[in-house]
Amino acid sequence: MDINNAGCGLDLSERVAEIRRRIEAAAKRAGRDPSDITLLAVTKTHGAQTIRQAIKAGLFLFGENYIQEARDKILALRDEETSARWHFIGHLQRNKAKIATELFDCIETLDSIRLADALDRHARDAGKTMPVFCQVNLAHEGQKAGVSSTALKDLIQRIMDLPNLRLDGLMMLPPYNPDPEKTREWFKGLRELRDNLEAELGLKGCLKELSMGMSHDYEVAIEEGATIVRVGTALFGPRNV
Ligand SMILES: *Cc1c(COP(=O)(O)O)cnc(C)c1O
Repeated sequence: MDINNAGCGLDLSERVAEIRRRIEAAAKRAGRDPSDITLLAVTKTHGAQTIRQAIKAGLFLFGENYIQEARDKILALRDEETSARWHFIGHLQRNKAKIATELFDCIETLDSIRLADALDRHARDAGKTMPVFCQVNLAHEGQKAGVSSTALKDLIQRIMDLPNLRLDGLMMLPPYNPDPEKTREWFKGLRELRDNLEAELGLKGCLKELSMGMSHDYEVAIEEGATIVRVGTALFGPRNV
């Protein structure tokens, strides 16, 4: 799909239908059950009204990158809509861990032991068990958030000791390449890393979620095992900011 043309002539429900068709086709190519893949709509920069339309179009899982921006939308929609679930997919500072715990249903970007400890404490205070994913920086990109593959094992073992966190899987934002085939190796690498760690740590089947793939490469990500694809532009068109 030409993502730069997303939106031209199509309304949101048609775009959702088209993406669902592509998800299903990619799953079938890989011999996977399409119902094992969830479309997460990335709504950063888009207002509550767009999210209402997305809910009408059948979407229920949303991703936000910034606490402040997300807060207004989540609180506005919380009163009127109970089906929406929210994943935090941005970089989380420890001083925002408390509000993130209150607002979100899952933190996909846990990447340090200090942050894990803070989230565990706030989850306990809020009386909830917080689902988390570890964000992995497989390519060791200097500026990018995420735990390195070498430090991941220690982080996972720490999370396993924290009673108020539940580790559900891994998330990755691979080096950007406009050609999705060039990203295939990173997607495959995250799946293999997950499989190896599950075996080594005796966690078979525990890290079931792999959040990877965006508008331009989600089909390849699904072929390599993604269970959550995070799609913004292909649903809502280009962001202006
Ligand atoms: C913005 C964002 C996306 C969505 O990107 P698109 O190319 O618009 O689909 C996915 N994941 C993360 C972490 C993001 O920040």
